Amino acid sequence: MDGFPAVYRMAGLPERVSVYEVGPRDGLQAEAAIVDTATKIEFVRRLVDCGLKTVEATSFVAPSRVPQLADAAEVLAGLDLAAARHPVLVPNERGLDRALAAGAREIAVFVSATERFARENLGTDLDGAIRLAEPVVARALAAGLGVRGYVSMCFGDPWQGAVAPAAVAEVVGRLAGLGVQRFSLGDTIGVGTAGQVGALLAAVDRTGVTRDRIALHFHDTYGQALANVIAGLIEGITEFDASAGGLGGCPFAKSATGNLATEDLVWLLRGLGIETGVDLPALAEVSRWLGQRMGRQPNSRVVTALTGR
Ligand code: MG
Repeated sequence: MDGFPAVYRMAGLPERVSVYEVGPRDGLQAEAAIVDTATKIEFVRRLVDCGLKTVEATSFVAPSRVPQLADAAEVLAGLDLAAARHPVLVPNERGLDRALAAGAREIAVFVSATERFARENLGTDLDGAIRLAEPVVARALAAGLGVRGYVSMCFGDPWQGAVAPAAVAEVVGRLAGLGVQRFSLGDTIGVGTAGQVGALLAAVDRTGVTRDRIALHFHDTYGQALANVIAGLIEGITEFDASAGGLGGCPFAKSATGNLATEDLVWLLRGLGIETGVDLPALAEVSRWLGQRMGRQPNSRVVTALTGR
C-alpha cells in the first residue's frame, strides 16, 4: 500500500473516464465562508496541475444571489484558458454577456427536471426555465462556445419526491433541440440508487441523445454516489462530475454531505484500472490546503484516510 488501491479490472467497463471537476463552482457556491479571489484562482490552477483537464471555474450568476461568486470575471481572468477547459455556469442572458466579456469559451446552463423545483428555485415553470435557456444557448453557440446542459433533480426532488425517467428525458430532448451539446444529469439531493441509473439512461436513449454526450453528477448525501458511478460505468458512461474534497454541502437536504468527492471517485476508478490522468495524492493535498484556508475539513473519505496514514 502506497496510497493507491490495488488494481482489479471489471469486464466491460470503459478504459478511460473524464473527471469533470466542479469544486470551484458547484462546491464554493454552497459554502457560506467567502473565499478570496486569489485563493480561488490558486485552487483552480492547482486542480489543473493535478491532471484535471476540465475544471468548471465559476458562475456568472447575479452577485446578489450568490455573493461567493461575485468575482467570476476576475477568477476567469486569472486562469490560463489554453492549459485546461474552464467552463462557467450562465443562468441567463445577463450572465452570458458577462461571461462573453470575460472571455469564456464554454458555458453551462441549468434546468431542473421537475416543475416544482423550477418554481421553488427559479420562480418559473419548466417551460419558463427552458425559454430562459433558449437565447443563452443560441447566442453562446453563435459565438462558438461549447454548451453543457445541467439537468438537476433527475433522481428525486425535495418537494415532489419521485421523478420519472421519462420526465428527465423530455427535458434532455428539449435542450438538445436548442442545440445543447453535452448533458450532466444530476442527483441533486443524492437519493438515487444503482438500478435507477440504467432506467434513466434507457429513457434518455429514446431522445436520440447518445451516451457519449451524457455525464452523471452524483451526490453522496445518502452514501450512494460511488455505487451509482459503478452503475453508470456499466452503462457505458465515461464522464463523471465530482468536487475536490467533497466541497459544497447539499443546500436542499441541509446535509453536510453533498457532492461526490473527486478523490473518492478517482480512488475507485484507479482501483478498476480506469485511466483518469489525475494525480490522487497531489489532489488530496490541494483539498487539505483549501480546507486549511477555509477552516473546514475536506469532506472526502479518501482524503481523510490518506491524511491519517
Ligand atoms: Mg453538485
